[in-house]
This record gives sequence, C-alpha cells and structure tokens, in this order.
Amino acid sequence: MNVYDSGRMADILKPLGYELVDGPEGADLVILNTCHIREKADEKVYSDLGRIRPFKDDKMIIAVGGCVGQAEGAEIMRRAPYVDIVLGPQTYHRLPEMIARAHRSQDKKNGPGRGVLDVEFPVESKFDHLPEAHSNVGPSAFLAIQEGCDKFCTFCVVPYTRGAEYSRPVQAIYEEAEQLVKQGAKEITLLGQNVNAYHGESNVQEWGLGKLMEHLATIPGLARLRYMTSHPRDMAEELMVAHRDIPQVMPFMHLPVQSGSDLILEAMNRKHTRSHYLGIIEKLRTFRPDIALSSDFIVGFPGETEQDFEDTLNLVREVGFSQAYSFKYSPRIGTPGAVMDNQVPEDVKTERLARLQELLNQQQQAFNEGTIGKTMPVLLDRKGKTDGQYLGKTPYLQSVYVEAHPRLFGQTVDVVIEKAFANSVTGSIVTSPLVGEVAL
Ligand code: SAH
Ligand code: SF4
Repeated sequence: MNVYDSGRMADILKPLGYELVDGPEGADLVILNTCHIREKADEKVYSDLGRIRPFKDDKMIIAVGGCVGQAEGAEIMRRAPYVDIVLGPQTYHRLPEMIARAHRSQDKKNGPGRGVLDVEFPVESKFDHLPEAHSNVGPSAFLAIQEGCDKFCTFCVVPYTRGAEYSRPVQAIYEEAEQLVKQGAKEITLLGQNVNAYHGESNVQEWGLGKLMEHLATIPGLARLRYMTSHPRDMAEELMVAHRDIPQVMPFMHLPVQSGSDLILEAMNRKHTRSHYLGIIEKLRTFRPDIALSSDFIVGFPGETEQDFEDTLNLVREVGFSQAYSFKYSPRIGTPGAVMDNQVPEDVKTERLARLQELLNQQQQAFNEGTIGKTMPVLLDRKGKTDGQYLGKTPYLQSVYVEAHPRLFGQTVDVVIEKAFANSVTGSIVTSPLVGEVAL
C-alpha cells in the first residue's frame, strides 16, 4: 500500500514540476513514507531522518508521510525539528497546499522546520483528488480499491492510523485500471487492508471483490489479476469461485491466520477460529485445487503457551504454504494487546519465530521444488542482477530468474523451471513471441 501511495504522491506533484530522483542529495523535497505496524518499522523513521538531515539546505523540504506521521505527528516535530511537513495516509492529496504553506512559513521557532502538520481524516476521499494518469507504470501495477479497517484486532494499529473501512466506487477503479493498462500494465494487484471486505457501489448495487474482478477482467490487455490482503471473515464463495472461473485471476491467495490456537485467536479479537480458517482452505481447494497459499503469523502474542504455539505449527503442517510472513508480536501503544499482563518474554518469541520460520522455509522450498520440470507462463516484470537476466512471476507468485532478450521485458513467456531455491526458481524460456525473430 505504501508503494502505491508513494507513487500517487509523485503523480500529484508532477504538475508542480517535481520529478523523482535517486537520492536526497540536491533534492527540493524529500518525502519519507512510513509504516507503523511494528516497532522496528517505526524506529527506522528516526534513523532514516538522521541520514537525510545532512543533505538539508535552506531550500530542501523534508516531509514525513504514512502511518507514523498519522500516529506520532507532534512527536516527530519535537524529536526531529528540521522536519517541515508531517502528513497522514489520508491527506496526501493536499501535499501541493502543504508545500506552499511550508514555503510561505516564516515560523522557525522550533528550529529550521516549517511546522506544517496535517493528520486529519478528511470527509472527502483523497481518491477523488488524485490525477488519472500514473507517472511510473511497469508491467505489474498496484491499484488501491479499499482502505482502512473496522475490525480492531487487539495487536493492530491499522484502524487507528488508516481510519475506517472505505471502498472506492466500481467505476473509479475500472477507469484507473484501464488507464494503467493503457500505460503498459499487464498485471494489476488490487490492494486493501481488508481487500475482500470490498463492497463498492455500481448502479446503486453493492459489488464484492469477485464481481469487481469479473468486471475488470473485461479490460483488453489485462492479463493477470491479484489482490491482497484478505481476511478470513470476508471470504465470500463468489471470490473463491472467481479463482476457478476468471482466467485472469491467478491461483494464489494470501490469507493471514496469525495463530493456529483458538484461545489466541480469541484474545486477538480475530473473530474467526482455526476450524473456520481450515474450512475456507478446504473449500477453496475444491474450486481451485492447485491454488498456492500464503499467510501472516504472529508468534508470542500475550498469553501464548507452548501448546498454543504448537497449534500454529500444526496448522502450518496441515495447510502447506507456498510462502508466508511471520513476525514476533510487537506491542503497539494504544492497542489493547500492549497492556495485557501476560506478555511473552522476548527470548521465547525469538525461539518460536525461528522454529516457525524453519518450517515455513521448508514448505516454501518444497513448493518450489515441486515446480521443477513444469512449464509455466511467466510475466517478466523486472530487470535481473546481470545483463540479459530478467525477473518474473509464475501464476503462483514464485520469483523466476531467466535469461531473456530485452524485447521480452513486460511480456508473458513460457518458462520451464529448472532449479529451486527457498525464495526463487530459475528456468529457461521454451517459447516466445520472438522465437525465430531474435536475430533481428
Ligand atoms: N488486514 C490484514 C493484515 C494487515 S497488517 C489481516 O487482518 O490479516 C499486516 C500483518 O502485520 C498482519 O497480518 C500481522 O501478521 C502483522 N502485524 C500487525 N500488527 C502486528 C504487531 N503488533 N506485531 C506483530 N505483527 C503485527
Ligand atoms: Fe489490523 Fe487486519 Fe485486524 Fe484490521 S483486520 S485490525 S488491519 S490485522
């Protein structure tokens, strides 16, 4: 979501003459787009600001955006008084105005910073104020369709920093997707903190995510659709069926479970059980047996016993994931979890995380090995580490390194998978639109 937001900030500032540069040296404006989800990400803000500071001259404006800006606006201005602007994720459409205010501001009371703070949750949606065209579009693009959350899991800051659940209208999403495809996108990943809670309006009717994707799949040239992040409570059958019936919808789902223990799920206020989660996976596999699954896990939530943790390991063994993200519980100020009195010691969290990650890595390696010898369509969406090397994605979201003609960049090619590693696979192109033409 932050990658999407950063891109949109660049789009808003383009008409003002701003262009992206590679680093802070000589820049007129530096925007640090931040994440508040765990303490580690949060702390990074101050060390990154410390690195940017030496480049600041009279002309440079430093802005801090994103969820740390939202949660700790005044604190940032106090701890780093050379920051000129602090904004939240819902006000970045007002950046031009904030920059103008910063330029006008003579207020240097708090040091060299210009003291512009905008962390409101405005009534108007920022999406209505963003320019239609994106300025940087690659073969694989992001599109935010939903934002915010009303679920209030006891560990999570999102409902406080991103605000209430909001779904964009169908028509606006369709137009943005059409525009992205016109600018070269072949794959679009629909984004939302609870993307499958999507309930946008079209013709006065509410549409869910499955129906939205059916509609987007009619855009000529849009080859692949993905979405993240989904919540187990919002898994409609319509969405599961979309994986069977809409060829553009890829056979991959990221569905966070957090824990395999019902006691912990309850303490987390997830409002779903272990068996509900397993039931979804079972049903999903009846519609799309080859679907690859990913998840998020938190270890060491307050009260988690060795037995609770083993329930998580068992769930992982039962499902079999092709990839996953796992984290140590990070107490966040203002969330109910942070004041629970049965916090798990840090060394126990570290040890559990290592065990969980060992199992998840084994599964990921096994999944990748299982694709050796298979031929799969791969969308080449990034340049590799060496000349002639490209990086692409299989339908199952595996990263594939492959040697290819530069003209194949942005194309989908058939690749036979040859070697498997924990985080990627390698292979060779077996057919391409340029076969017989490569000598040209
Ligand atoms: N809406 C999604 C997840 C959004 S946050 C869902 O409900 O599943 C992304 C991930 O960050 C979460 O799935 C969770 O695993 C992790 N996370 C959130 N808060 C955390 C915290 N306080 N400590 C550790 N991990 C956390
Ligand atoms: Fe956070 Fe997701 Fe829970 Fe919402 S549903 S509070 S975003 S973890």
